[in-house]
Amino acid sequence: RAKEEGKNLFRFYDPAMNPNAEETMEIKLGLRRALEKNEFTVHYQPQIEARTGKLIGLEALIRWEHPVRGLIPPNHFIPIAEETGLILPIGEKVLSIVCAQSIAWQRAGIPPIRIAVNLSARQFAQEDLAERINGILERHGLDPKYIELEITENTAMKDDMQPALNELRERGFTIAIDDFGTQYSSLNYLKRLPVDKIKIDRSFVSGIARDRKDEAIIVAMLQIANRLNLTVIAEGVETNEQLAFLRDNNCQEIQGFIFSKPQPAERIEPLLTKALIS
Ligand code: C2E
Ligand code: MG
Ligand code: MG
Ligand code: MG
Repeated sequence: RAKEEGKNLFRFYDPAMNPNAEETMEIKLGLRRALEKNEFTVHYQPQIEARTGKLIGLEALIRWEHPVRGLIPPNHFIPIAEETGLILPIGEKVLSIVCAQSIAWQRAGIPPIRIAVNLSARQFAQEDLAERINGILERHGLDPKYIELEITENTAMKDDMQPALNELRERGFTIAIDDFGTQYSSLNYLKRLPVDKIKIDRSFVSGIARDRKDEAIIVAMLQIANRLNLTVIAEGVETNEQLAFLRDNNCQEIQGFIFSKPQPAERIEPLLTKALIS
């Protein structure tokens, strides 16, 4: 168990940007201050309906606005936040920022859009997770149907996860499995799990038009998901070739740099307002 969790900890590390020991210590010390000083912010990446090109959702992605180092990406500090347990208050902070933003947009007359929020395995280990999450939405007055919760395969496939997932879905949240296909994807679990969507990982998408095996795996994933009535979103779509392949194979939703990088709320707003008139 400890070994497995150790592996999870390093799952996000890109060797090219793996912080050294000194940086790790600095991050550890900085995270708590960052929470107190509200240095965390959220960027939003558009999710597009493949058939129509319409904006149908956003993914919320945390950023740390460090007073000295500038904007720090999540791969640098989320694993450390998980290790220290600070991911619990940080995760709730993200959800709270997202709820406040969604309500602010609604008050400005912008039609509400679904926003996906990433949850860590540590958050799911809390028995009262569903209540905590629901409490945050209630405090902001946001309907859970506007929030999608993203969890990774390893988190989703733990046996004791089903009650929490069921409870969240009953309350109106949708559930997506992130980075699908990169970990232990047991088809048996996929059959039983109460989820709505799978997110095909960028590592497969990047093989489109380059690697026949990646293409075959994507086609198979789309077929299985379709038969199981699951929505599929492909992440990390960067090229027209990738987009065409995914469209041709009936992948419903697309997310990636081809449409937009994650951006601060004020840069996303014009896109939302555009959706109002089109
Ligand atoms: P993820 O949830 O799989 O998010 C997708 C990542 O892929 C994001 O990186 C996004 O910027 C990047 N991406 C999107 N489209 C493209 C593309 O076309 N090409 C390329 N090369 N990359 C693309 P980001 O924002 O650096 O986040 C990295 C990871 O950090 C996330 O992966 C997620 O696992 C974690 N993370 C982010 N925000 C949170 C959070 O609030 N809570 C938790 N627990 N984890 C988070
Ligand atoms: Mg995600
Ligand atoms: Mg992902
Ligand atoms: Mg990822």
